[in-house]
Amino acid sequence: SPVFSSPYLSSHVASIPKFISTLILAEHEDGAIKPSSLSAVAAAGALSEGNSISILLAGAGPSLEEAASHAASIHPLISQVLVANTDKLRYPLAEPWAELVHLVQQKGGYSHIIAASSSFGKNILPRAAALLDKSPITDVTDISGPQLFVRPIYAGNALCTVRYTGGDPCMLTIRSTSFPVPSVSDDSKSNAATISQVDLSTFNEDAVGKSRYVKLTSQDTERPDLGNARIVVTGGRALKSAENFKLIEKLAEKLGAAVGATRAAVDSGFVPNELQVGQTGKIVAPDLYMAFGVSGAIQHLAGIRDSKVIVAVNKDADAPIFQVADYGLVADLFEVLPELLEKLPEK
Ligand code: FAD
Repeated sequence: SPVFSSPYLSSHVASIPKFISTLILAEHEDGAIKPSSLSAVAAAGALSEGNSISILLAGAGPSLEEAASHAASIHPLISQVLVANTDKLRYPLAEPWAELVHLVQQKGGYSHIIAASSSFGKNILPRAAALLDKSPITDVTDISGPQLFVRPIYAGNALCTVRYTGGDPCMLTIRSTSFPVPSVSDDSKSNAATISQVDLSTFNEDAVGKSRYVKLTSQDTERPDLGNARIVVTGGRALKSAENFKLIEKLAEKLGAAVGATRAAVDSGFVPNELQVGQTGKIVAPDLYMAFGVSGAIQHLAGIRDSKVIVAVNKDADAPIFQVADYGLVADLFEVLPELLEKLPEK
């Protein structure tokens, strides 16, 4: 189980496994591995040199095979791609996926199992950990050793160093914004990993049908993904309506940015829930974060702390957002946004 690290503990060197071998629970879309899962590969690379990394993919249909080829060639750190091709895993539901992880772990005996801290990873990894009788360590932002991890607590106001002492496998979710994927030269990509099918003959069918996939509703995919975007433009309650929120969307379009929102804006129905940034929304770490009519509540700041440059526009000079902003403008957003839109060139 995870314990808090203290200076007294550091003299007790935790038992370090002789071989580090990591299983990544990966998400794929349109025949490609999602960037957040590649960040999990980057995190696995930080565990130790010579880590043997396997990627686990599941689903059904031709896009799964395409995703497997993509996974095999995308990064030299990946040595094996395991594919579970079955209709029972067509959709990423927690129950059958957790069963799959259990099955693969029994055969592979991995020292670590990692998923990105996305809806996918947050849904599946804790259930898989329960089946394996392990305590997962979630939202890891830094890896100091194979069993020493840093994670934020109190909505990001403090960082906690956790030493894992629970035996193999050590199960982690990682914040993808903290593990950028290093660019890989085309030469090293040609070192393709092996692709193997998972033997599902002992797959526990009891896990199937406990939850049911209904439908996927997603925003248009032309905009960058909020979790990985280089620029994020966020609107708060001050936008007052869905109609006015289009000003934020237009600015994002001109800047090639992702759109974000505060919980107040989401709760008021201006934009869908998936655009919420903060403690209970998405964590972002763009090069540029622009906040319009956002007060800067602690729960919102928890999601934007790692942004490189924060720009805030708020008509209240005492708004807390100005305490974290690199550039602040005390002004009415209904004057600033039209002016910005007019002055910025068309994309
Ligand atoms: P407000 O706090 O109402 O701020 C609006 C701001 O707009 C004000 O500062 C005002 O001065 C300014 N303004 C008004 N008119 C104009 C104008 N014309 N021009 C310029 N500025 C103007 N919130 C999140 O965002 N994300 C989360 O994940 C999240 N999780 C939460 C979890 C919990 C458990 C709780 C209790 C709360 C959570 N919240 C979260 C809510 C959070 O506490 C705040 O209520 C919320 O962030 C406020 O949103 P806001 O800044 O849009 O609205």
